[in-house]
This record gives sequence, C-alpha cells and structure tokens, in this order.
Amino acid sequence: MDSPWLLPLSLGFGVLVGAAIVLVVVLAARRGRRAAAVVNSVVPDGVDQVIDALESAGVVVDPSNNVIKASPGAMALGLVWNEALVHPELARLVDRVRRTGELITEELNISRGPFGDANIYLSVRVARLGARYVLLLAEDHTESYRLDEVRRDFVANISHELKTPIGAVALLAEALVSASDEPEQVRRFATRLQLEAERLAKITQEIIELSRLQATDALAKPELVDIDGVIANAIDQNRVAADSHRIALVSGGDRNSQVYGEETLLRTAVHNLIANAIQYSPEGARVGVGVRHHEGIVEISVTDQGVGIPEEELDRVFERFFRVDQARSRNTGGTGLGLSIVKHVVQNHGGDIRVWSQPGRGSTFTIRLPEANPSSAANLGAAS
Ligand code: ADP
Repeated sequence: MDSPWLLPLSLGFGVLVGAAIVLVVVLAARRGRRAAAVVNSVVPDGVDQVIDALESAGVVVDPSNNVIKASPGAMALGLVWNEALVHPELARLVDRVRRTGELITEELNISRGPFGDANIYLSVRVARLGARYVLLLAEDHTESYRLDEVRRDFVANISHELKTPIGAVALLAEALVSASDEPEQVRRFATRLQLEAERLAKITQEIIELSRLQATDALAKPELVDIDGVIANAIDQNRVAADSHRIALVSGGDRNSQVYGEETLLRTAVHNLIANAIQYSPEGARVGVGVRHHEGIVEISVTDQGVGIPEEELDRVFERFFRVDQARSRNTGGTGLGLSIVKHVVQNHGGDIRVWSQPGRGSTFTIRLPEANPSSAANLGAAS
C-alpha cells in the first residue's frame, strides 16, 4: 500500500483542509460581527459603547445614509435592515438634520420592519453627531398609544351599551304615566321597568369590576385560596339558574389545589363561566366543572353541550361587549362583559384562559393558574 507520493499527497490534503477551516472561521466571524453591530466604518470615539448600552433604539448614519451602528433596540423595532434605514420617513429626517444642522423631535407612526403588517408609534430625536454622522434615537410608545385607543373604545362602547336601557327606562316611565288609570298596564310596564333597571345595575357593576381589574397588573394582597371552595361557591350561586333551565350541574376531578390570589375574584371568574354554560345550553343539557392539577398548574374546565361558538369568533369572545348573537345575549340579559372579566381575573392571577368550541356540540372554557404549593398539593393526593 505504501507509495512514494502518498506522504506529499496527504500533506497537501491536510493543508487544503486547514485552509478551508480557516476560511470558514474567518467568514463566520465576519458574518457574526456584521449581525451584531452593523458596523463597517469608524464610529466617533465612545459612540460604540453608548449605542451598545442603549435600551431604546439608537442608530448612527454616515454621510451616504449607511447605518454604521445600531443598538439591539433599533434592530428589534425593525428600523434597520441591510445596513440601511428601513423607513423613508426616518431617512428624510436624517437628511433634514444634515442640511439644517438642527435637532428634530417628531412623533411617527410606521410599520414594524421592512415587511411588517403591525404599526409602531415612535418618538424620534435626530441630531448631528460630529461633522460626518447623524444620530437617531427612538422611543417606542406603541403600548401607551394602544392603551389610549382601548380606553377610548371602552368609553365609546359604554355609552352605546348604556343608551339602550336608559332609553327603555325613559319610555317605560312615560308609558306608566299615561297608563296610570289601567292597573294591568301599570303592572306590565312596571315589571319591564324593573328588568331594565336590573340590567343597568348589572352593566354598571361589571364595568366597575372590569375597570378595577384593568387598573392593576397584579393583585395587591394575594392570599392562599382553596380551589375546592371557589368551585363549590360558584356552583351554589348558579344552582337556581341551572334548575330553572333543567340543567344538570356536575363537578369532579382533582381536589385540594390551592393558588395565591383573591377568592372573590376567582369565584366571579368560575361563576361567569358556569353562568354562560347554562345560558347557552338547551334545556335538559349537562354542564360539567372539572379540576386537574399537574406540573404546578391548576386547570379548571367548564364544559357544556350548548350552542357552541363559530371558529372565526373564538378569538373575539374575550373582548369587551362582544357577543356572537347580539339579540340572544341581550334577551337573556347578557352584558358582553362576563368573559372579559374572567380573562382579566385569570391574567391578574398569572394564568391564562383557553376555549374549545364547536357550533352545535358545545364549548369548554379552561382556566389555568399557577398552583401555590405544587408539591404539598400533590402529596395530599388526588381524589375524584
Ligand atoms: P354575555 O354577557 O353576552 O354572555 P360574555 O362576555 O360572557 O357576555 O360572552 C361573550 C359572548 O360569548 C356571548 O355573548 C356568547 O355569544 C359567547 N359565549 C360565551 N360563553 C359561551 C358558551 N358557553 N357557549 C356559547 N357561547 C358562549
């Protein structure tokens, strides 16, 4: 097998492999540098470090509008792509500063990234950096704009929702006055007046509850809450409604789970789910409430065999004032706020809510909450 050219050949092969490895390493290092910093020319002293330390978006642009440095925040907002500013609006501001030398502050509403559908709201400051460069700083105000928008929508919705019952109360009061000589009519109008007043009280109470929940991200004084107690109470509160609809209300699953939170809020959440399950089920149907705890999570599911929710509406049912069937919900006294309240309660407890549903087959709403003492709860054992 030995031959005189085997040694030089293997040496040559070794050199080739070595060169290839060096080339790959150099290319990788180059690519890495580029991705991290978008730098390819010299930035004025200290600017590099300042941009690296910036939490918000910072971009340095050279005289040809090439981005020579961008902070991770600028990359995350999609302001820079291919070593250039993505948005012509930003490039125009940079040009203006270069021409006039004046500092500019502006509010902009632009897309996130070069192909982004979502819009972002930025407060942008652009200034000269030395003789050659321009510095662009941007603060992301998208979240506060969104909250403002939500707040405006909420107020508009509330006014709309209150208008109907308030109008009805006014009309019924008028009808009462003109029917004062007819006791039968008076009784009829007075009963309807009572219903509208109850509806107004319910909407007002739910709006107050929702505002309170939205005002904070977390609970002020969480306490240890027994899930068994929460479920027993929520079922009790719905017993009369279930009986009047001839609905069998059954519960089961794991016992002895605890979570940190506010008991009254958790009761309201489970109560709302059961009330809906009854409301949107035909007479004689079954509503089940089940608990499971595993891997530090408590799951509370409320299942019905009711009308179900069309797939395209599933994402919307947690929105305030959203109803799949406006007429039906209004007739049954629904406010469109129940699920919104559930979602906020669950979120304030560090959990989430999911829904499975099929029109005609029924729905299952599942609340998931972090368990307070996963190991001790597991030790207590699971009994059905
Ligand atoms: P509402 O007071 O109208 O019941 P919710 O916020 O509780 O308001 O629910 C929003 C909408 O979601 C309801 O109007 C209804 O269309 C739908 N929905 C809620 N729960 C169920 C359910 N268990 N089965 C079918 N539809 C439901």
